[in-house]
Amino acid sequence: MKPFIYDYTLEDLQAWMKENDEPTFRAGQLFEWLYVKRVNNFEDMSNLSKALRQKLVDQFQFVTLTEITRFESKDGTIKFLFGLHDNHAIETVIMRHNYGNSICVTTQVGCRIGCTFCASTLGGLKRNLTGGEIIAQVVVAQQMLDATNERVSSIVIMGSGEPFENYDETMKFLRMMIHEKGLNIGQRHITVSTSGIVPSMYKFAEENTQINLAISIHAPNDKLRSKLMPVNRRFPFEDVMEACHNYIAKTGRRITFEYALIGGVNDQSEHAQELADVLKGMLCHVNLIPVNHVPERDYVRTPREQIFEFHRILERNKISVTIRREQGHDIAAACGQLRAKHMESTVG
Ligand code: SF4
Repeated sequence: MKPFIYDYTLEDLQAWMKENDEPTFRAGQLFEWLYVKRVNNFEDMSNLSKALRQKLVDQFQFVTLTEITRFESKDGTIKFLFGLHDNHAIETVIMRHNYGNSICVTTQVGCRIGCTFCASTLGGLKRNLTGGEIIAQVVVAQQMLDATNERVSSIVIMGSGEPFENYDETMKFLRMMIHEKGLNIGQRHITVSTSGIVPSMYKFAEENTQINLAISIHAPNDKLRSKLMPVNRRFPFEDVMEACHNYIAKTGRRITFEYALIGGVNDQSEHAQELADVLKGMLCHVNLIPVNHVPERDYVRTPREQIFEFHRILERNKISVTIRREQGHDIAAACGQLRAKHMESTVG
């Protein structure tokens, strides 16, 4: 199989030009066609010679994301189920906010982390995506927005998969997204979310970027977290918190904790108080996410009043906290639900 052109950084393309007896500035032109003009084939790259275009055709391919389905929510959220070259399917979501368009990308086909409230993990991990396959999700979204002169203004890596288990490809993706000659997305407008893969958290703290880090914490203690997230047995709560303190000390940046509220499981007032005690004095923000019902699990939504009570307790303890505005609730927008449905319909 020919390599994906999106898997090549600008430096890689420069090296390739050199090896192929082409001037290295051609790499910059090619990069511009890919990420600024966003064409989908080499033939359209009119300022490259015919011979060079032919060489590119012979040696590379574009990532083809075939749209299997698209669901559009009343609130403007669009959720895509894309087919990959090897027949796997992945989800990508475009969310419309009044401050811009945000895209949620997937980093793995499936996931092996096993969070009990998540549909993405139901079939296990199939494979890692390459950096280029992650990039393609943003390019496709941007091409769609080009029609109305809009931009992808922020990116969240919160789709299916654990980005820190696909660390190198995720970092390649991130570097390409912030590249000033490419899509040039502001670092502070990008968030990578992990279930707490401790060694990668230490690595990420050394990357010297302004990219935001979010941790899916979902419980205020080790015991409950292990029940909800089997990964906690590999990387216990205390180790995750220590890695968070290290990240804050090294980067001076605030960390976000994602806390999925699951009815009757982790949403009681004592859980809120325990969480407040753990996070007291830390440079952090808590994002409360009332879970969508996952049909394959027995989880139910937290009653509205209890969501507000949880929020109040954290606030009273001077923890910065928000309740995530739900988007795409009417289109199975929770991570993995669309793919799970697709797998059911193709397998069974
Ligand atoms: S929530 Fe994220 S890390 Fe957990 S199983 Fe789902 S995709 Fe994997």
